[in-house]
Amino acid sequence: MTSVNSPRFQCTGCGQCCTGDPAHHYVEVSRKEQKRIYDYLHMSARNFRSQYIETAADESEGIRLMENGQCPFLEPDNRCGIYRVRPDQCATYPFWTELISSQTLWDKEKTRCEGIGRGSIIPEAEVRARMTARTRKT
Ligand code: SF4
Repeated sequence: MTSVNSPRFQCTGCGQCCTGDPAHHYVEVSRKEQKRIYDYLHMSARNFRSQYIETAADESEGIRLMENGQCPFLEPDNRCGIYRVRPDQCATYPFWTELISSQTLWDKEKTRCEGIGRGSIIPEAEVRARMTARTRKT
């Protein structure tokens, strides 16, 4: 069971979830996810990785944010430039285990995501499906 009571969510397309703190955040992206992105962009693995990927101290890899904290694939109109092949971390937001398991953190995330608390209640089965998409090994 999730801990958040009757979660509502409707994305407004504001783009705030595509902006973080470049000193501490990047977008998790597995090697399999990287492949689907560089194939989509018609880039070589080498060029894609040198241009967009950074490796953390624990050797996990992610898409490096720009100096202003934005994802490099965020378009000027707040659309995602790689939407069809975006990382699972993006596709499953805000239904991350750490957020949906805590009413406090879910409510706090509203200050970042204006879509939380809007729209219809998301059924638990759908919440679980979205959570699973992020945690599957790719
Ligand atoms: S911050 Fe929330 S409402 Fe804004 S684009 Fe991201 S998911 Fe949608």
